[in-house]
Amino acid sequence: MNQTIEELLAFLATPQKIIVTMHRDPDADALGSSLGWARYLSGKGHEVTVISPTDYSANLRWLPGMDQVLVFEKSGDNAICKKKIKESTLICCLDFSALSRLKDLGKLVEKSAAPKMVIDHHLEPEDFATYLIWDTKAAATAQLVYQIIKLIEKDKTPQQMFDLDMAECLYAGIMTDTGSFRHSNVTPEVHYTVAELMLSGLDTSRVHRLIYDNAPLSRLQFLGYVLSQKLTVLKEYRTAYMVLTEEELIRFNSSTGETEGIVNYGLQVENVVMSALFIERKGEIKISFRSVGTFSVRDVASSYFSGGGHKNASGGKSDLSITETVDKFLEILPEYQAQLISVQ
Ligand code: 5GP
Ligand code: MN
Repeated sequence: MNQTIEELLAFLATPQKIIVTMHRDPDADALGSSLGWARYLSGKGHEVTVISPTDYSANLRWLPGMDQVLVFEKSGDNAICKKKIKESTLICCLDFSALSRLKDLGKLVEKSAAPKMVIDHHLEPEDFATYLIWDTKAAATAQLVYQIIKLIEKDKTPQQMFDLDMAECLYAGIMTDTGSFRHSNVTPEVHYTVAELMLSGLDTSRVHRLIYDNAPLSRLQFLGYVLSQKLTVLKEYRTAYMVLTEEELIRFNSSTGETEGIVNYGLQVENVVMSALFIERKGEIKISFRSVGTFSVRDVASSYFSGGGHKNASGGKSDLSITETVDKFLEILPEYQAQLISVQ
């Protein structure tokens, strides 16, 4: 049974030891919403530790507060993460709603007796939250963090509620999860939110540049290789897909963050409505799916690849080899052909 926001506020009336965590391979929304929320909680006198389950992309290192983030998988951070989790009196889970998205950290969070707070916009959350702030229509988890703070601090002006650091963190999440304000999840609220965050002196152009125009040369060269050699378009299914093997990632010295966003290029091909990216990294197969309009890649990810996500952006994994995984994908395409063809 989920507790109400009033019960949450009563709980937060005394200082707590709080963990803020987010999904593995965190993107700008996962990290931005977590850092924004953590900063708000610290300002209220709580002791807050932000833990990322895995390493993250280099273009997010500038986010305010990042220097304090612990990485569970890093040997130097692991012991202190465990200690902090043990001592915690609240665990906030942002931008995910299935504990498997925490990788190895998930078991510890599950075992912990501390109440859990989930702030998320993904479909069908698992039932582990004591406090649940969940809205699948929210463009980003950062948008939800903004809304909760507004709800709690209702008598304050935006400048009093959000300082520049918080504004940058939340804006980074909103900007990236809306594809720089071009996806169908953009609502008037999104623009109102940004307008209010800008009152703190937020330089939106700077944030955009730091995230999108801040790649090592190797990423662009890798992208050139992927687009010229690895992009396959199946016209009859209006589908594009790319397959990247471990050997290729090593050859191009491509780290986790450097493959982020590559799947979106498939959708730039005319008439394509679904794009898939298969990545083999450290013996694990991860798949990213993107689609446009009515076609739900979430259905593909959850039905066949132990995953989930949003209708137009989802992901999953596979225990098969990379070739077998791609073959499986190709085999299921006929089942979706009618839906793919009918997308407007
Ligand atoms: P990405 O392709 O950027 O890794 O993931 C896109 C979206 O798919 C994420 O925001 C998340 O909602 C979802 N997603 C990615 N991987 C998984 C997974 O393994 N399981 C679930 N349930 N969702 C995933
Ligand atoms: Mn998100």
